[in-house]
Amino acid sequence: MKQIVIISGKGGTGKTVITGALAALAENKIMVDCDVDAADLHLLLQPKIRQRHEFICGKTAVIDPGACTKCGQCLAACRFQAINGKYIVDPIDCEGCGLCARVCSSDAVKLVDNKAGEWFISDTRFGPFVHAKLGIAEENSGKLVSRIRQAARDIAKQRGSDYIIIDGPPGIGCPVIASLTGVDLALIVTEPTTSGLHDAKRIMDVARHFNVPVKLAVNKYDLNPEMTDEIENYCKKADVPVVGKIAFDRRFVEAMVAGKMIIEYDAQAAGEELSGIWQALKD
Ligand code: SF4
Ligand code: SF4
Repeated sequence: MKQIVIISGKGGTGKTVITGALAALAENKIMVDCDVDAADLHLLLQPKIRQRHEFICGKTAVIDPGACTKCGQCLAACRFQAINGKYIVDPIDCEGCGLCARVCSSDAVKLVDNKAGEWFISDTRFGPFVHAKLGIAEENSGKLVSRIRQAARDIAKQRGSDYIIIDGPPGIGCPVIASLTGVDLALIVTEPTTSGLHDAKRIMDVARHFNVPVKLAVNKYDLNPEMTDEIENYCKKADVPVVGKIAFDRRFVEAMVAGKMIIEYDAQAAGEELSGIWQALKD
């Protein structure tokens, strides 16, 4: 079983549309959306949720008003100003450090599990799909990414799947690292702009740090052929194979609006190029 992650180093490169198309082309696979802060692959896959799980991460303090003597010890101790003058904890500010519970001599503070989001196992017309939704203002998206990747590996083992296709988050932060670690290959999708090249370089460095082999595809390459040349030259020097160049095509947007994969919407739209990219990844 091989794990392939599609990443971009920045948002807005068309990564998810390309991930969706590659996932549709791959046979016997599990799909995972690791962009848990702003998941959107489900818009194309239209999943039917089979299993729903809570993502518990960390603790939140809760003060029992019946037991609280309003002595003020916890308020003075909390370094995150999470407790207000009425001795109510704001769960958004609370870091779950537990100091308030330690200083409270009335045993009025309890630390309860923090429900930080949900994750799902779903059926789609292209096969099983594992995805998640991080709660509003919640952190620890890297842990949630690791959780859903583990779930995908378990399903892949049970089913004897050949591939896990992962839609990675943008950027180079914690959830990206959690998406990259242990994969067999990373495909970087970039666009022909200065920032596209800059962010592709950064994500290449991160992937190399984790010993992940990298290939690259340029989306909307024809909008700036000079910058596309610059990206290709850089990749040549960096020994990163450029496995595809996809031209700008309004049908990509139309397909998204219709909630379809591009290859479903119009097989002629970049069909050959996307098949070529998938073949290069398989090779
Ligand atoms: S330390 Fe305990 S008793 Fe004192 S104000 Fe805080 S919760 Fe109430
Ligand atoms: S657990 Fe820590 S952060 Fe949360 S209210 Fe208590 S002292 Fe403040």
